[in-house]
Amino acid sequence: MKVLKFGGSSVGSSERIKAVLSILKQVYSKEKKFAVVFSAFQGVTDKLEIIAKLAADGNKSYLEELNELREKHIDIATKLPCDPEKLTESINVLLNELENLLKGVNLLKELTPRSMDYIYSFGERLSCAIITESLKHSGIECGFLDARKLIRTNDKFGKAEVDFTASNKLITEFFNKTDIVQIVTGFIASSENGISTTLGRGGSDYTASILGAALNAEEIQIWTDVDGIMTADPRKVVDAHSLKAVTYEEASEMSYFGAKVIYPPTMKPAMDKKIKIRIKNTFNPNARGTVIVEREPEVKFNAKGISSIDDVSIIRVSGNAMPGIEGVSARIFSALARDRIKILLITQGSSGISISVALFPGEAAKAMNALREEFKLEIYENRIETELIENLSMIAVVGEDMLDTPGITGRVLQSLGRNGINVIAVAQGSSQLNISLVISRSYLSKALNALHSALFLDRRKILNLFLIGPGLVGSSLLEYINARYKDVKKDYSTRLKIAGIANSKKMVFDKNGVELNNWKDILDNSDTKSEVEQFISKMKEMNLPNSIFIDCSGRGAIAPYYRDILDASISVTTPNKVANSGSYQNYLTLRETAARRNVRFEYSANVGAGLPIISAISEMVRNSDKITRIEAVLSGSLSYIFNRFRNEEKISQIILDARKAGFSEPDPRDDLNGLDFARKMLILIREAGFEFEPEDIKVENLIPQDMQNITNAEDFMNSISDMDDHYKNLKKKAEEKKGRLCYMGSFDGKKAAVSLECIDNTHPFFSLDGSGNIAAIYSDRYHDNPLVIQGDGAGARLTATGIFADILKISNYLGLTYG
Ligand code: ASP
Ligand code: MG
Repeated sequence: MKVLKFGGSSVGSSERIKAVLSILKQVYSKEKKFAVVFSAFQGVTDKLEIIAKLAADGNKSYLEELNELREKHIDIATKLPCDPEKLTESINVLLNELENLLKGVNLLKELTPRSMDYIYSFGERLSCAIITESLKHSGIECGFLDARKLIRTNDKFGKAEVDFTASNKLITEFFNKTDIVQIVTGFIASSENGISTTLGRGGSDYTASILGAALNAEEIQIWTDVDGIMTADPRKVVDAHSLKAVTYEEASEMSYFGAKVIYPPTMKPAMDKKIKIRIKNTFNPNARGTVIVEREPEVKFNAKGISSIDDVSIIRVSGNAMPGIEGVSARIFSALARDRIKILLITQGSSGISISVALFPGEAAKAMNALREEFKLEIYENRIETELIENLSMIAVVGEDMLDTPGITGRVLQSLGRNGINVIAVAQGSSQLNISLVISRSYLSKALNALHSALFLDRRKILNLFLIGPGLVGSSLLEYINARYKDVKKDYSTRLKIAGIANSKKMVFDKNGVELNNWKDILDNSDTKSEVEQFISKMKEMNLPNSIFIDCSGRGAIAPYYRDILDASISVTTPNKVANSGSYQNYLTLRETAARRNVRFEYSANVGAGLPIISAISEMVRNSDKITRIEAVLSGSLSYIFNRFRNEEKISQIILDARKAGFSEPDPRDDLNGLDFARKMLILIREAGFEFEPEDIKVENLIPQDMQNITNAEDFMNSISDMDDHYKNLKKKAEEKKGRLCYMGSFDGKKAAVSLECIDNTHPFFSLDGSGNIAAIYSDRYHDNPLVIQGDGAGARLTATGIFADILKISNYLGLTYG
């Protein structure tokens, strides 16, 4: 036999009840005897409490409220299959009884827990009476069963304790004598003398479990409004999913801690009899749901769920002299116990200098008073201090064997740390299978999401990307990600979500990821005007874990914001050189901020479009190799120009060709003046560990002196052939020395320059060809033969791959291994 239970949300309206009726018909088509526990219609128990209190306050408006309740029940009932007159009649009989009772409360102006329980009983009696009628009318043979007949409790009204010996006997006797479906009132019971009691708010789950256990049911089904027990609250964690199976212990731990799928006492009777509890969704009956089962010893369990108490406070009792005061902890806890304060978490440093307890904020003032009173003397003598810390949240990670599984606590703390979330207290929770953490409330959502992706999506990590400037480079990157993302989705590894994009006109945000197949349309159609500061504050506000900011904007306008972004624990990557080639102080600040916030600032594409020059240098520095000298060609266009300038062609012609082929900037002077090249050189020098300012680099301008004062780009292009003679001469001199011209950067450990040099065939750059970039790095280790890195070093596509490499680097750093 099965026991099913439907809660308030499953019976919130006539439509919902019809859905329940059809679920029951299906069960009925297979078996003719089972028990169905119902709670009161949605909101009714709360309403009864309000009405009772109004009546007790002498407020006559309780009658209006009661009438509303009457209408609600009649309205729902008459929309169901039934004989409306007969059913309205039975509803009125019950409600008249309730009205009389409330009159008494109103006259006496007294509401005892005992009469409250009696008043509560009408909620379940009404819902079950209505449903029984309607089921009968639909051809299901069934009876109305008032649980007060079968479940015996003591007289702790409001949350009575079950007498299982008496109840089990009554239950089995009753069910032995019946052959039909029973519709059972949840939540309510009665004491030995037949007085109505209740099992505690939310107690109809418990009713189902008491029945199921007494009857050795094959299964207890709890029908609710979610797809089972979830790994986390789906309103807070985007990727929360329902669990297929959990153990009784895990389920109780999770429900005590905020994942209110099931009333905690429910677990015990079922667990004692090893009866499966299945959680199902009335709104989605085909979903698999979660089954709560006994633990199978050979199965290694792991983290199962993350839940939270959104609002907690901590009281810290501390003092250097504390270890010397006898019985401090005993006194703390008895003081709190005297005032019935519920303690959520306790931590004590091993030195004994401080003890912290977490509690509900509503009880904090009372608790502070209790402690101040208890330690009056010690506080007066300055030996003990009490401090209240507010606006905190508590998170619990729940799962069997978790504490025996090495590395879990590490993973938990690491994922929080790498997201810049400070942990205020950690403790093993109320049982062996719970790690509890207290953090600042403003980080709650981020923390839950970060933990969720670190613990549950082992094979499916999520990075949240925010991109400004989807120009040539930015859109290549998006295309690249889109292409990769498809593979990635298949094998469930890291998922890259584009949580926000902005161009110069519009911006768009989506915590589930902007659809990459048509991001352009989505962005165009957005009605949010683009604004850098707005973009950044929105990004912070979204507070997504594993966030990365990508600056692909052409200008340096965003660079001043990097520090602020890093400070918000968001990693930054950019191909833009502005931030790294400004003052050295700013350069340092960015790195310090990133380190302090545990995030990364990455810029592989600053030099050589991601050709691994920066990474080679930083790797060498990290391995304590000392860099002594760097030579490099770091401009694709200038490389192209001088590599071709080795035959009879005029330099002006080559420059024009370079421009036409898109190698150079639209105004070639932006390359020829050497400034951009110098910035790259500066970045390499700094990466090698040298404190260098932009003006420390001597830059040779390739535009001849007499042409430097031409302001207009057109005029310059028209007179470009004026350069020819000058360069023809230089080339001739070089050839006389059996050399060639090469515009290169050089740094000797002290001085740096970017200049046109004559190199001979012993130089590693002599055979440089096309538009390639090259760097020769000399160090203690690479003393005679430099480390040479050579390859294509320009273009939007290559730059995009460089940024992608940065993203993966950050992903690794965050502990989310890619691929
Ligand atoms: N109707 C009761 C309540 O709201 C019992 C239940 O819903 O389980 O607390
Ligand atoms: Mg309920």
